[in-house]
Amino acid sequence: MERLIIIGSGCAGLTAAIYAARANLSPLVLEGRHPGQLILNMHKQAEKFGARFSYAEATDFDASNRHIRIKADDEWFETEALIIASGASARYLGLENEQKLIGHGLTSCASCDGAFYKNVPVCVVGGGDSAAEESLFLTRFASKVYLIHRRDKMRASKIMQDRVFANKKIEPIWDTVVTEYIPDEKGEMRAVRLRNVKTNEERELAVAAVFVAIGHDPNTKAFRRKLDMDSDGYLITKNLAESRHPGVFVAGDVADRVYKQAVTAAGSGCAAAMDAEKYLSERGSDT
Ligand code: NAP
Repeated sequence: MERLIIIGSGCAGLTAAIYAARANLSPLVLEGRHPGQLILNMHKQAEKFGARFSYAEATDFDASNRHIRIKADDEWFETEALIIASGASARYLGLENEQKLIGHGLTSCASCDGAFYKNVPVCVVGGGDSAAEESLFLTRFASKVYLIHRRDKMRASKIMQDRVFANKKIEPIWDTVVTEYIPDEKGEMRAVRLRNVKTNEERELAVAAVFVAIGHDPNTKAFRRKLDMDSDGYLITKNLAESRHPGVFVAGDVADRVYKQAVTAAGSGCAAAMDAEKYLSERGSDT
């Protein structure tokens, strides 16, 4: 029986791990298949204070009054308290060859992969703040950044739109969707096929990389019909970090469809760990 399991190792999960480890709870952190980026120092700090890490993806969840069970890969773990900080995963377009091309010119993370595409044309798909931010970041490396959006107006904030439109390296392509990825003979992205949704006109655009920025889906499959979530699958909390089940707490992007910032995720991770500690000390320990 674990005292505290934390699902996720992004900003929320690792902040929760640092606070819980410093409270001597020796939490077990399940890192999943997509460990967070930019957080090596937080990882080290959590480990230094006694957090333990395991690469395992949470796939099922079961909670009765005093027992919380979490299935990670094929193993069931029992724990007195749980913090769900499993984050949200980038959406892709659902086109043919998509999975094969990820890492070969198809990505959802400019800060991770942008530097590989120096002095070549790239494109970003989307019209929100993420698409604007990714496009601006990519201008540091790429020779040209095409911003492909399905409408003729961005939904990004005004300040981000202003920055995009002021940057000569960014060329918006409006009312347009990507219908096909076109790899070269080595399987690396060479071009995309585009369709103008108003005229139906099609054309090929040469790009060395496609950065998809069309939003995220929360990683909550394991909790479907077991915890409260909204129609898009984001967990619903009360008092910041509480779920409807005693002992189960929630932190970060898995419950945040609005802010999605490292600092807000870290804040809710801290709150979840403090709530879990209070819950465990009021409950007394089974172990
Ligand atoms: P978003 O605001 O939901 O924007 C997603 C964009 O992708 C929209 O423009 C949408 O088009 C487009 N899209 C969705 N599905 C598509 C599809 N299948 N094919 C083509 N295009 C598609 O998502 P986001 O940009 O990731 O932002 C999420 C939240 O985080 C927002 O609240 C945002 O403000 C925040 N955020 C803030 C910052 C910042 O402050 N610096 C940075 C990043 C994110 P439509 O417009 O037609 O719907």
